[in-house]
Amino acid sequence: GLELDGVTVRFDGTPVVDRVGMRLPAGAVLAVLGPSGCGKSTLLRAVAGLEPLDDGVIRYAGRDLHGVPTHRRGFALMFQDGQLFAHRSVAENVGYPLRIRRRPRRESAGRVEELLSLVGLEGYGDRSPATLSGGERQRVALARALAVEPRLLLLDEPLSALDSSLRSRLAGDLRSILVAAGTTALLVTHDHDEAFAVADRIALMRSGRLVQQGTPGEVWRAPADAEAARFLGYAS
Ligand code: ATP
Ligand code: MG
Repeated sequence: GLELDGVTVRFDGTPVVDRVGMRLPAGAVLAVLGPSGCGKSTLLRAVAGLEPLDDGVIRYAGRDLHGVPTHRRGFALMFQDGQLFAHRSVAENVGYPLRIRRRPRRESAGRVEELLSLVGLEGYGDRSPATLSGGERQRVALARALAVEPRLLLLDEPLSALDSSLRSRLAGDLRSILVAAGTTALLVTHDHDEAFAVADRIALMRSGRLVQQGTPGEVWRAPADAEAARFLGYAS
């Protein structure tokens, strides 16, 4: 699993991620939930190796990741707008990580079929991304992120670009897909419904700090303080 201890990232001296510690066991899905600007994306980028730490340590499977470059970490990233290649078919998009790793063509074709079926898009291989709905595009981006069975999947607001009814439907699907694939995943979002629908554990973040961690039930039943309760949608 993933372990963070005292992780700190400063911009111009200001800590944007401030002494954050968390544990993500292998196979689990953890959602970091907090308002805009609280440091979620910065934290995710630090785990990906895209942001140097000013303090603290990040370990995966017990190994300190300090100095391990992004492409050697074995993690996959997925963003708010799936960032598909517009001029490649759905199958080419999903198979791209296999192609750059020079996997045999026949094996890749089979794997692409498997992934499209996992995300509920059988038969979509020849479509162009331009012809897909927003939700379908995010499914393609998810299939592509899962193509090489990442040790850890990092998701930055994967459903935020979708309208709210689609978002809640896809959040449940996202959870089923991650569980079916056995993927360890760290998701960051400002949307509490999304976090509660997808994750096994919730880490509530505010102004760079973790204010609370627990199962969705624990966090929902006993928010850390009044501000946490308001953020979770309790009437004040
Ligand atoms: P959102 O929900 O809006 O995506 P977030 O929780 O992901 O927000 P971050 O993107 O991590 O927040 O940003 C946290 C803070 O750090 C913000 O105040 C932002 O302006 C600042 N910040 C992020 N990147 C940089 C940078 N490269 N240089 C300076 N400040 C930065
Ligand atoms: Mg962000």
